[in-house]
Amino acid sequence: MAPRPLQPSHQFIGGNLATNAGGPSCLKYGVTRHWVLGVRAVLGTGKEIRTGSLSHKDVAGYDLTGLLVGSEGTLGILTEATLRLAPIPEARGTVVATFPSLEDAALAVQQVRQAGITPEAMEFMDGATLSAVDDAFSLGLQNVQALLLVGLSGHRLAVAQETQDVYRLLEKGSLRVDLGLEKNEIERLWLARRSAFGSLARRAGNLWVEDISVPLSSLATMVRKIDLIAQKHDLLVATLGHAGDGNLHPQFSLRGEPDEEDRIKEAIEEIVSLAVSLGGTLTGEHGVGQEKRDLLPSALDQGAYKTMEEIKKVFDPLGIMNPGKVL
Ligand SMILES: Cc1cc2nc3c(=O)[nH]c(=O)nc-3n(C[C@H](O)[C@H](O)[C@H](O)COP(=O)(O)OP(=O)(O)OC[C@H]3O[C@@H](n4cnc5c(N)ncnc54)[C@H](O)[C@@H]3O)c2cc1C
Repeated sequence: MAPRPLQPSHQFIGGNLATNAGGPSCLKYGVTRHWVLGVRAVLGTGKEIRTGSLSHKDVAGYDLTGLLVGSEGTLGILTEATLRLAPIPEARGTVVATFPSLEDAALAVQQVRQAGITPEAMEFMDGATLSAVDDAFSLGLQNVQALLLVGLSGHRLAVAQETQDVYRLLEKGSLRVDLGLEKNEIERLWLARRSAFGSLARRAGNLWVEDISVPLSSLATMVRKIDLIAQKHDLLVATLGHAGDGNLHPQFSLRGEPDEEDRIKEAIEEIVSLAVSLGGTLTGEHGVGQEKRDLLPSALDQGAYKTMEEIKKVFDPLGIMNPGKVL
């Protein structure tokens, strides 16, 4: 049996709920919000409310649970949550493929999804990320330009069939595809993916980590344009991400050059605006916080943004809940 691809991204349930945290397995299992039946919260007004029910189906009134989960602490403090549970998958499988470029890997991801297969995770890393990861793990990936890890989970018969199907689909556009790797080799590849941020930071000294998400149909365009935008601003970028969800993490190396932060900010504004113009969003999982607060109005419909401001006033009229964040 292959190992679990990646652990949940975060350890603390409050932060997990407040940021509607996600991660690799969201492709099959959804984000935090999909697993919350209800919460108890103390609002900025000082009132305590209980939302939702124990029922998996509940359409009684507005979805206050969905609103509070992901509100980044700006509407209230979550003090209790009722979660859905699911059985641990019976079986797991992993298919590993290398590609001439991240764009080719993105196209392959699209093909797998178009074939109606929903893996648990589809994670990819570009050549710059792999080179940094290889420094740390010596996996022989130094000259590989793109690597895709596809993690499957579920009933053992379904996993066996889907693993074969994914293998066949990836065979076409990839340089090499493996499904018979030893368990410890697969574990090391997933560990390498989990450690990609750390490996890049170890090499660069300091990193600016970005987070955007686009529809799968635009994933290949987005990864190509990220490289062009980085080149235009004379920046070093390494891109990895939760490819199956269209969620990308371009990471810029900070080399201590005088105007580099300004150039990175300009590049990020271009990347964000491109993601939004392609039907995507300025953050898939890292949240808005302070860093993207000023970019939020231009990324949303103006009426929607104004409605968020009104909601904030109802939940937190004095503006005391996580002030200065999100809006
Ligand atoms: C480098 C980096 C990588 C990341 N990677 C991922 C990722 O892979 N997937 C992902 O989903 N997210 C990611 N994030 C963002 C992530 O969602 C948050 O960082 C994470 O959820 C924080 O969890 P925490 O337990 O440390 O919460 P904290 O950092 O303690 O809190 C996060 C926010 O939630 C609020 N909060 C905490 N507890 C409560 C509560 N009980 N009630 C109300 N508000 C509360 C805090 O005020 C704060 O605004 C990343 C962020 C960074 C900077």
